[in-house]
Amino acid sequence: MSYFSDPYEYDHETINEVFDDNDDNLGNYRIGHYEDDEFVITYVGKGNIKVRLNDHFKDEYHDDYFTFSPEEDDEEMFIQECEDFHDNESTLKNKNHPPVPKSKKCPVCGKEGGK
Ligand SMILES: [Zn+2]
Repeated sequence: MSYFSDPYEYDHETINEVFDDNDDNLGNYRIGHYEDDEFVITYVGKGNIKVRLNDHFKDEYHDDYFTFSPEEDDEEMFIQECEDFHDNESTLKNKNHPPVPKSKKCPVCGKEGGK
């Protein structure tokens, strides 16, 4: 079970404070904003969190806040990303299903990899 941090403001200063350059910074992340008091998730992803968050400054997936869960296990990251995707499908900007590795299946919808 992953534990996600409280949301941080999504700016370069905060990213540099939260993530060390010397770490791999692997894990899952969610990007979003507040509507009233509710955190609305508009993008979910995994990988090197610091690198990915910096990349999203340049695309439409940038938003006001991010939250993350450190994780080094590929399988765990994949499962978490699929759950995050399906849990938040209605508010996500990117509606493409996360890539499913060959010989794996999405734990939520059963989509198979390598096809
Ligand atoms: Zn799925």
